[in-house]
Amino acid sequence: MKKIMIALGLLLPLAGNAREATVASPGGHIVVTINDNNGYVNYAVALDGQTALLPSRLGLTADFGDMTKELHITKTDAQQIDRQYTMRQVKQSNFHFVATQLNVDVENQKGQKMTIQFVVSDQDVAFRYLIPRQKKDNPKTALIKSEASSFCFPDGTTTFLTPQSDPMIGWERTKPSYEEEYTADAPLTARSKYGHGYTFPCLFHLAQGWMLISETGVSSHYCGSRLSDYDATAGYTIAYPMEGENNGIGSANPGIALPGLTPWRTITMGQTLKPIVETTIQYDLVEPLYEPSQQYGSGRYTWSWLIWQDNSINWDDQVQFIDLAAAMGFEYCLVDNWWDKNIGRERMAELSRYAQSKNVSLMLWYNSNGFENDAPQTPRDCMDNSIARDREMAWLQSIGVKGIKVDFFGGDKQETMGLYEDVLYDANRYGLQVIFHGCTLPRGWERMYPNYVSSEAVLASENVYFTDYHAGQEPFQLTMHPFCRNASATMDWGGIIMNRYLSRDNHSRHQRQTTDVFEMATGITNQAALQCVAMQPNNLGELNDVTLDFLRQLPTTWDETRFIDGYPGRYVVLARRHGNDWYVAGLNALKEPLTLTPDLSFMDTPTVSIITDDANGRAVRKSVKLNKRGQAKLTMLPAGGLIVTR
Ligand code: CA
Repeated sequence: MKKIMIALGLLLPLAGNAREATVASPGGHIVVTINDNNGYVNYAVALDGQTALLPSRLGLTADFGDMTKELHITKTDAQQIDRQYTMRQVKQSNFHFVATQLNVDVENQKGQKMTIQFVVSDQDVAFRYLIPRQKKDNPKTALIKSEASSFCFPDGTTTFLTPQSDPMIGWERTKPSYEEEYTADAPLTARSKYGHGYTFPCLFHLAQGWMLISETGVSSHYCGSRLSDYDATAGYTIAYPMEGENNGIGSANPGIALPGLTPWRTITMGQTLKPIVETTIQYDLVEPLYEPSQQYGSGRYTWSWLIWQDNSINWDDQVQFIDLAAAMGFEYCLVDNWWDKNIGRERMAELSRYAQSKNVSLMLWYNSNGFENDAPQTPRDCMDNSIARDREMAWLQSIGVKGIKVDFFGGDKQETMGLYEDVLYDANRYGLQVIFHGCTLPRGWERMYPNYVSSEAVLASENVYFTDYHAGQEPFQLTMHPFCRNASATMDWGGIIMNRYLSRDNHSRHQRQTTDVFEMATGITNQAALQCVAMQPNNLGELNDVTLDFLRQLPTTWDETRFIDGYPGRYVVLARRHGNDWYVAGLNALKEPLTLTPDLSFMDTPTVSIITDDANGRAVRKSVKLNKRGQAKLTMLPAGGLIVTR
């Protein structure tokens, strides 16, 4: 009887005039309690009977009124959600989302109204605000000044966060671009590097489990948000963009038409990291915003720029990378910046014809701006307005180009979210898939925009090229992202790097600090439906058959993803299924070898094929019989990896 009452979200009286509603997930693992004590609406979250979030504030201030205080709950309304859908380009293909929704109607002393919508599944809590038109049907629009939504953690919680940068800093004033370092296991009280809080997703380690906080459903109808620095009383609060983003142009505040909705704030949690790695809440709560103009492709791409850099954007070098893609059976080749100057548009049409004759499709790089920053790379001013964009994309379609990579956005204002959306929508009309770089975190976009592929929004592989320090950080970074950045959204890391040295001659400059199998395994741990294999033409003669054969057959789309073992920033083992084939991949960021005995019984085979590093850091394949419990003993070298297949 108790469970039914909870699920229905009955409104019960507390002391004084306060009232409280409680909503439980379908299996009862998560319980959210919402009350209006002292005129403030707070929510608290319990996971398997233990406190996960302390009472945390809800509400927002808008130009028409203050919906953060002197509030009372007037009504609650519960319903069950049970929806199924499919996707092709993310960590899973068939989705079944079961949750309880509770709508909590609140009113302030002026009689202004708002509904807080909660959705609670057995591993997620999400909420958003529905703002109706107020009395006399006006106003019909709202400027949202601030959001009070907060997240208050029990003492002892540690954080895995990456800071928001100052606006208009970095390379040619292109930040913020979500390219900052993560700090692992920091105390709640640590201050963010720039004093602007943290970008999503944000990972927390609680006494009894793990929690990932992010947002989804951000389109041209809202800005991107982040978490503030931690305040001992208020916790983390939702923060909007900084005034200085986008060269100070555009509003830091979102505006919406009424009735209108804010994006979903999402909280994923569990006693282990399994729900974090496997979460699909970013897709469960959004819908496609338009139909795909065609069935878009997936696959691997070669990319000269990572190691050969700007000098490689010429006809002869690009032919080499097209030939490399063809030799490997890869589907795409990405031509990076300056192609309009160094190859030219007429010869680009010819290059695209050459690529197609080899069964390879080209993708081309673009600068996003506009007025936003000083990045000099061309082509620029082709993507920031619909007239130039339409002309450009029609030409791209006419020469058989299949995708674009648009770089250097630098802001989370609503206006910039509109630019991302416009680029995507126009690209779909011309059969172009889109990768964003120098950009924000995608928030549900894989489902919302069917030709959207992936975003950088990470301190990516280019930094491994730039400095020895970042080469040393690669194992830490790539064992962090499956639990954080890449758990929330597709990530274009920009390359499985097979050169031993980060140079064209492959013996000058600094060394890569990971083993070959580490790099190969990142092709599975890093999820992107267009996966960059940043191997170089010289690698064809240098790598052994185990490595080349693996890269030739590497899938990039997945039907299922399973967490097996790991700890953010230390190591990860996860499994992804493509059709009937399981690919188990491990990465070790520790300074010593790591031996694990994972349960591989789900692979449904008595023996498995394991690729590991030999003493020289080369890939070797061997067959291993699973024990009676379906386990195999596996060892990963420091900065090494492993791959298990049938
Ligand atoms: Ca970048």
